[in-house]
Amino acid sequence: MRIPPFYSPLRGIALTDVWHDNDECPVARSIAPADRVPGTGQPRPRCPYCALLDRPVTAFSPAHRAGR
Ligand SMILES: [Zn+2]
Repeated sequence: MRIPPFYSPLRGIALTDVWHDNDECPVARSIAPADRVPGTGQPRPRCPYCALLDRPVTAFSPAHRAGR
């Protein structure tokens, strides 16, 4: 589920400092709510796992047809 962006002075299980906006992200889940700071903490990049989770999960993507 999409949540307001947050970051943390602690990385959790992430390898780099990133911000999160999805509560299903395993890295976001590794950060305790008490350690979360609202916002994106720029210039941090967005968490790649959150970005993946943001994509709609569809077995038959319309893009497959639209491209041709
Ligand atoms: Zn994340």
